[in-house]
Amino acid sequence: MTLISGDGVGPEVIGAAVEVIAATGVKIDWDRQAAGANAFRRFGNPVPEDLLQSMLRTRVALKGPLETRVAEGFRSINVLLRKTFDLYANLRPTISFPGIPAPFRNVNLTVVRENTEDLYAGIEHEVAPGVVESIKIITAKASTRIAKFAFDYARRTGRKSLTAIHKANIMKLSDGLFLKCARAVAKQYPEIKYTEQIVDAACMRLVTAPASFDVLLLENLYGDIVSDLCAGLVGGLGLVPGANYGDKGAIFEAVHGTANDIAGKNVANPVAAILSGSMLLDYLGHKREGDRVRAAVTSVLRAGRTLTRDLGGKASTSEMAAAIVRTIGRN
Ligand code: NAD
Repeated sequence: MTLISGDGVGPEVIGAAVEVIAATGVKIDWDRQAAGANAFRRFGNPVPEDLLQSMLRTRVALKGPLETRVAEGFRSINVLLRKTFDLYANLRPTISFPGIPAPFRNVNLTVVRENTEDLYAGIEHEVAPGVVESIKIITAKASTRIAKFAFDYARRTGRKSLTAIHKANIMKLSDGLFLKCARAVAKQYPEIKYTEQIVDAACMRLVTAPASFDVLLLENLYGDIVSDLCAGLVGGLGLVPGANYGDKGAIFEAVHGTANDIAGKNVANPVAAILSGSMLLDYLGHKREGDRVRAAVTSVLRAGRTLTRDLGGKASTSEMAAAIVRTIGRN
């Protein structure tokens, strides 16, 4: 598998995830590759050819966050990787953990985000000095396949309902097309209750009654924003894993970014990266080992003795990872 440690806290949390995966007994031959700001500093290229070749070979990666400068610099390497390997579905399961201080206790929802188009197409022009245009692309093909992915996920995992989130009252053509495709796909899954909500109202409902949501289906930009909001419901970005799936490969990565304010201090919460690792184990057919990782994480969080400071504790990244490794060993 390709291993991209990434920028900022990436090497710390990915190192923890690799240790935890090793503790399950699953042997993975990691092909370590640089990407992002650290690759740019070392090789003058944020997406070195070796990385692309590695991904073409393995088709699967565990990845740390990559830095993307605001309003300057090279385009997002995350977006580039997802588009190059057509990893069209971003899955972000967001679950409350026992013992963790969070605004809510009974959240169990999954964000399914379209990963290849929308305003993330990055098509921007300066039409005239002082006037810029950013183009939102929505296609029937991408909307239908992400809706199918979300409903298949809901069916496979025994989920009861799916909510498509949109702004089709304003973007009648683009978000309208997204909804039209979702409605057509919904008809093939009669056992799953299908509803729709406008994104602003959905945000209000998420922060007041998150337990009323099950699977959320969103375009790229709304999906990105809403998944960070959902992380806040359960105790923060340090807890929420993610995966980008395509028909021929996948990249597993936490929802959080490089967290530069805490990078290099051994204080970042490794749980999101570790749980992304458990999703990688599932994908590779090691569901039992994936379950062992999730059980160990839950048990360490519930015990509350070895928590990083974002969760109100004093443990370091490596202490928390070691506690999870020990728990896997005991079970
Ligand atoms: P961020 O997620 O890096 O940080 C937001 C806040 O959450 C910070 O206060 C940070 O300390 C905290 N946080 C994040 N992860 C944490 C963890 N594991 N443990 C404890 N606290 C944690 O978001 P940002 O500051 O908006 O973005 C920083 C950089 O990351 C930007 O360059 C952005 O483009 C990039 N980014 C990359 C990815 C990715 O590679 N998939 C995702 C999001 C952001």
